[in-house]
Amino acid sequence: MPELPEVETIKEDLRGLVVGSKIERAEILDPSLVEQPSAEEFVRRLAGASITGARRRAKHLILELDSGDSLVFQLKIGGELLLVPPVEEPETALMLVLHLGEQRRLFLRDETGFTRARLLDAGELKERLSTLGPEPLGEGFEAGYLPRKVGSRRAQIKPLLLDQKVVSGIGNIYVDEILYDARLHPRRKANTLSEGEWEALYGAIRSSLTAGVEHRGTTVRLYRDVLNRPGGHQNYLRVFEKHGRPCPRCGGEIVREKVGGRPSHFCPACQAEDGSGEDGQLELR
Ligand SMILES: [Zn+2]
Repeated sequence: MPELPEVETIKEDLRGLVVGSKIERAEILDPSLVEQPSAEEFVRRLAGASITGARRRAKHLILELDSGDSLVFQLKIGGELLLVPPVEEPETALMLVLHLGEQRRLFLRDETGFTRARLLDAGELKERLSTLGPEPLGEGFEAGYLPRKVGSRRAQIKPLLLDQKVVSGIGNIYVDEILYDARLHPRRKANTLSEGEWEALYGAIRSSLTAGVEHRGTTVRLYRDVLNRPGGHQNYLRVFEKHGRPCPRCGGEIVREKVGGRPSHFCPACQAEDGSGEDGQLELR
């Protein structure tokens, strides 16, 4: 599932490969793709528009157009954007084709069919993005933000980190890696974290997502970049889907349990549920 590093990689690819191109024609192959406006209006407003920019906000991929509209994709679980050529034309699970001229086409395909697209004017875009929490690799995200925002909550830390209104762009792969790095059990209540633990969590969020971007994303199953290449960060995962295997830090067994309805991978020895981790961060309560 594309999270911040994967959407960031796709955005950078699109900046280099399709910004400056004109959309001659848009062809919808799966009408469930378009959430807003109607499919007819979506196609009509895209025709003839030039792509002037590509950006990312949280897990939203945004293509800016010279018409003033923004084409916004949520790639959800299995969404892929593929530029043809240079890659081979995909044949299955197609949802949208943007014809860019000179035989170049941008294909949106998704085996899971959950990808959604919207064509929004400036006001609608602002409204759409208004509830999102800060970008964890942006300047507005400093060490004091999370304890200030959620430090008094009795909610579990993992679901809080997945809440896009709290902090944006983190999904189920990176959150497990982040909590492992910070030595926090996914069920720890936010109001039980010590100052040192909040600092460790902040550092882990920044370093894990930065590494994911540097490695051009994580391909556990579905993710591909615009040139149909897998990412590289799956080679650096320590706990995600490593259940039954030894913890790289202590040699204990990584386990998988549901937390907040999501499969969660962690080391029960390094990430003690009562916060009594072996690194001396025992908190008196
Ligand atoms: Zn361990």
